[in-house]
Amino acid sequence: MKTIKSMLAIAITAGIAFTSCSTNEEQPTTVEQTANYSKKNLKFNFNTNIVAKGANTQLSVFQEINKDLKGYGIAQVEIYNVASTPDDKNKLTVIPVVDASDEYRTGFRFIPNDARRDNRDNLTYVTVSDFATSANGIASEQIFDDMYRVWQNETNCNNVSIDKQNFSLATDGLPSSILSFGDAPQGPIADHNVLGYIPPFLFDALDLGANTLAVNFSFGFRDEDGNFTDINGDGKIDLSHTETWFNDGVNWSTDGAEPGSVDVATVALHEFGHSLGLGHSGVLLASFDGNGDFTGELNFTPVNVMNPSYIGNPKRDLAGDDNSIFCENFSAWPYY
Ligand SMILES: [Zn+2]
Repeated sequence: MKTIKSMLAIAITAGIAFTSCSTNEEQPTTVEQTANYSKKNLKFNFNTNIVAKGANTQLSVFQEINKDLKGYGIAQVEIYNVASTPDDKNKLTVIPVVDASDEYRTGFRFIPNDARRDNRDNLTYVTVSDFATSANGIASEQIFDDMYRVWQNETNCNNVSIDKQNFSLATDGLPSSILSFGDAPQGPIADHNVLGYIPPFLFDALDLGANTLAVNFSFGFRDEDGNFTDINGDGKIDLSHTETWFNDGVNWSTDGAEPGSVDVATVALHEFGHSLGLGHSGVLLASFDGNGDFTGELNFTPVNVMNPSYIGNPKRDLAGDDNSIFCENFSAWPYY
C-alpha cells in the first residue's frame, strides 16, 4: 500500500514587515499577511485540499501557486516536514513536483556567467553565524558548511564550485529577501543565503506548519514587467538566489538518535539540494497489516536525500538519484 506525504507550498502575496532594535532580539511589531487564494478555496496551509484532489490537480495547483508567487519574486517555497502518519491508505501516491516536464528538478536554474550575478561561474553561499546555533544548543555552522561540501564533492560531476562567502551580519545586514528586521528589504548577498535557526513564531506567522523542519525559498529574476525571465531559453526560470530557514522550535540533534530529535545535517543536505535546483524524488510507502491498519512503518523507495520528508533516519550520503539529478543540472556547467 502506498500513501503520500505531500509537499506544502505557501504564497506570500502581501508585504511582511518585521521591526526590531537589534539583530539578536527580533521582536516583531508588525506582521501582516494575506492570501489571495480564497477564490480557489485554498488557504495557506492547503495540503489537505491538494491531497483530496489527486495528483493531476496537485500539479496544476502548484503551477498556479508558483505563478502567483511571482508577485514577491519567489519562484517556489519548499517545506520539509516530518512525515505524518497516513490516515487514508487509499490516497494516491504523489511525488510533489514543480515542473511538469522535468519533475525531479525545480523549474529554475542558476545561469553561469549571468551578468545579474556579477558574471560568476561559481555558486556562493553565506551562513549567519549569529543564527547558526539552535535554541537547544546545536552549533551548526560547520554542519552547514560540511553539507555544501557533500554536494560539491560527492557527485560524479563536481565541476561547479560552491564557495563560502565572507559574511558579517553587522556590516552586511540580514541576508533575507523576506525578513528585514527594521531595515530596508535586503537584496541577495550570495546565491544561497543560509539564515540559520529562525524562531518558530516566524514559521507560524507564515503558516508554514507546526511540524515544519525547514523551508527553502527560491527567488527568480524578473523583467521590468515583473515576469520571471529565461534569458538562455532553457525552459527554466533564471534563479536569482535562495534562502533557507531552520525551525528553531525543533528538537535538533547531531545524530537524530533520540526519538523525536531531528538530525541537522540530514535536513541541511536536503534543503541545500533544493538550493541547487534539485526537486523531490522517491515515493513514501506505508505498511499496513492484514486488518488494513497502519503498522507505524514508513519507508521511501528509493531512499535518497531528496525524499520529500523526514522519517526519522539520518541521510547524509548522496544516493544514486541525488547524484544523477544534480548532474542533470551541473554536468555541463559552466557551458550549455
Ligand atoms: Zn524538500
